[in-house]
Amino acid sequence: MTFFSVSKLSKSYQSIPALKDFSLQMEKGDFISIVGESGSGKSTLLRIMAGLETEDEGEVLLNGEKILNPKKKLVAGYDEVKLIHQDYHLYPNSSVEENILRPLLHYDKAYAKSRLETLLRQFGLEEFRERLPRQLSGGQQQKVAIASALAIEPEVLLLDEPFSSLDTIQKHQLIADLGKSLKEMNSSVIFVTHDLDDALRLTDNLIILQKGKMIQKGNSRELCEHPKTRYVARLFSPINLIPDRINNYLRPNEVKLRTKGGLLGHVIDSRFLVHYNSLRIQLKNGGDIWEVDDPARKYQVGDRVYLLWDEEKVMLLKK
Ligand code: ADP
Ligand code: MG
Repeated sequence: MTFFSVSKLSKSYQSIPALKDFSLQMEKGDFISIVGESGSGKSTLLRIMAGLETEDEGEVLLNGEKILNPKKKLVAGYDEVKLIHQDYHLYPNSSVEENILRPLLHYDKAYAKSRLETLLRQFGLEEFRERLPRQLSGGQQQKVAIASALAIEPEVLLLDEPFSSLDTIQKHQLIADLGKSLKEMNSSVIFVTHDLDDALRLTDNLIILQKGKMIQKGNSRELCEHPKTRYVARLFSPINLIPDRINNYLRPNEVKLRTKGGLLGHVIDSRFLVHYNSLRIQLKNGGDIWEVDDPARKYQVGDRVYLLWDEEKVMLLKK
């Protein structure tokens, strides 16, 4: 029997589809990221999985038992399926310790205590244990919220862009801490985000969602090298359409820059990035503008350049 199984979920709001025929099977301990632009149905999907939203069609099963939607269950939601989002709230008058312990009230005292200490350690919160939420930074508060959600070791953990309000450094730290903590538990985790980078920091097991539909599934390498559509391709980098060819695209790092021979263009913008300069190149005769990596930082605005590529690097992409 599949541990966590989602089959053919559909949901519309005022007859506008938000989720279409979505299915997914997970075993215990599996970790998957679902990436999609804003409005692609990520939150709707997780809310249905958690029993907090009513689906139009389909079903969600945990250990073979149906997750009941709010219309069918007196108190919506489940302890075993925990949903964490950006605005997950803490009890403002309870300390860090008390917040983390709250879900453990009815558990064995020794277990509660050991769980608390483990979480404080994993999230680097030991020195803040006596503080109230308002005495913590946003990133620390979010750590406490996540630690408290993990307190009773949920069977399924659903993360709905829980890092969105944090700055990049805080976010990367929290993702690293969370990754460690999750490895030590045996929960199945689904992380949804619009940010592919964040997703890849946690797992390279990906599902791409667009307009409520799963459009591709695989590891990051498969998706980067063999995207089925432009939408999937663009999650990894900008793409450049080859003139006079249909649906033929190149990534910025697959374009070679030469001083003669190839497709002619002019550099109109150059940006210093960590590993290369990113050039914007206006193709001749009012053609498209391409984005190309210049790893040697050789070209400057105004330079004339010729662009070449290996045919095997050309991606054929549907809309
Ligand atoms: P995401 O989390 O990927 O941004 P959502 O699941 O929040 O996407 O939304 C998917 C679509 O459903 C969007 O078009 C959104 O406007 C719509 N939607 C979500 N929740 C509601 C609601 N409660 N009422 C009406 N429309 C909604
Ligand atoms: Mg959302």
